[in-house]
Amino acid sequence: MDWEIVIGMEVHVQPKTRSKMFCGCSIAGLNEPPNSHVCEICLGMPGVLPVPNKAAVEACITCIKTALALNCEIPQHTKFDRKNYMYPDLPKGYQISQYDLPMSVNGYLEVGAGKVRIRRVHLEVDTGKLVHAGDKLHKAWESYVDLNRAGVPLMEIVSEPDLRSADEARDYAMELRSLLRTIGASEADMEKGQLRAEPNISIRRVGSSELGVKTELKNINSFRALHRAILYEVDRQQQALESGGEVVQETRGWSETEQRTFSQRSKEFAEDYRYFPEPDIPPLQLDRAWIEELRRALPELPSVRRARLLDQLPPAQVAVIGADRDLSDVYETAVAKGAPTLATANWIVNEIAPTGKLMSGQYLAELIDLLQQGAVTRDQAREVHLESVETGRTPAEIVAEHGYSQVSDPSELRVLAEAVIDANPKAAADYRGGKKQAMQALMADLRKRAPQANPKVANELLLKLLA
Ligand SMILES: [Zn+2]
Repeated sequence: MDWEIVIGMEVHVQPKTRSKMFCGCSIAGLNEPPNSHVCEICLGMPGVLPVPNKAAVEACITCIKTALALNCEIPQHTKFDRKNYMYPDLPKGYQISQYDLPMSVNGYLEVGAGKVRIRRVHLEVDTGKLVHAGDKLHKAWESYVDLNRAGVPLMEIVSEPDLRSADEARDYAMELRSLLRTIGASEADMEKGQLRAEPNISIRRVGSSELGVKTELKNINSFRALHRAILYEVDRQQQALESGGEVVQETRGWSETEQRTFSQRSKEFAEDYRYFPEPDIPPLQLDRAWIEELRRALPELPSVRRARLLDQLPPAQVAVIGADRDLSDVYETAVAKGAPTLATANWIVNEIAPTGKLMSGQYLAELIDLLQQGAVTRDQAREVHLESVETGRTPAEIVAEHGYSQVSDPSELRVLAEAVIDANPKAAADYRGGKKQAMQALMADLRKRAPQANPKVANELLLKLLA
């Protein structure tokens, strides 16, 4: 393979606000009826004017905080512009966005061992959305427009074309999500459309410094789809170029059902949009001292926290815990309460991360302690965990109520171990014959007969009896 992949990313993020930016409409939830959160302003009726409200100010602050967390420069002056184009999801015929004086420029995000440069982070308002329905067989199509999203603030985070693979692009998007959640900028839930990734992709011969013709993939809404769509697109471009064809600069969509990209429209260029300053919204002058205040108030960023966790834990655990603010918080609280680092980390990685059943750090410290004392088996600890999350009661209370306790008395367990060996003559013979893995079958049977048996003591007894 003598092609080099070049990817830049535009990521759209919906900042946490209660209302739209220039009108009083609240933000619609995922399954609310279409056009239930609209008014004459966000519908773009003739004669209406946008009014910057509290949400608009909050969105600006969130945008600047995000830019600071991404190491961007914040210019002293910034303004909004009109981006003019016709599309059925844009009743006004223009989108309020930022053109030549964005809220921030020239930052970077640390991803893995490298840095991805950030060109700009700016603020704009979202458009509506088209919903297509119809009958493929009879070619009877209908399109609907839902304007619940029109006027919702949206941050656009644009990277330089520094990514070189689908893996890097996915890691970048995940790191960005982790950062956005850490600073409280957005829930950044891709399923709810709060974070949408738009990679632009080109390939070039290795050694070439010229950029190839790029295609842009629109509105990708999961990390998995992002990864697959890029792999597909790279392969498609490579086949086109190797067979003597060409890549056309265009916008393409991703079909989840067909697992392929498809052409949507030929790419517009900036001059097509006839940008001009938005006359209804005053330009902003940003106070340096206030910006520095925002910078100082930023919480610890994921990359810094990860570096600190790496002093305590192996990289595999840090990869999981350090990627999620909630998990890191639980870990650090539990450890601060005296819980051992590795046992706590392993419980989080194996039991909390896959299930999403988050418990407080204090309760987790208590649970790990019960486990390490041998007061509960691992299976019982799992049940206690789930019940504690559901009821909010402490692990100790739940253990006391259920009368959970581990049987560690060797004389009691010896009878059990003998019964297991009698009932599994083949496994016992296999073990004695040198097949060490036969022990697993014996232990499994033992656990089935007595879930409360202390596995360590039971295992030692089985070994002794078999010897
Ligand atoms: Zn409205």
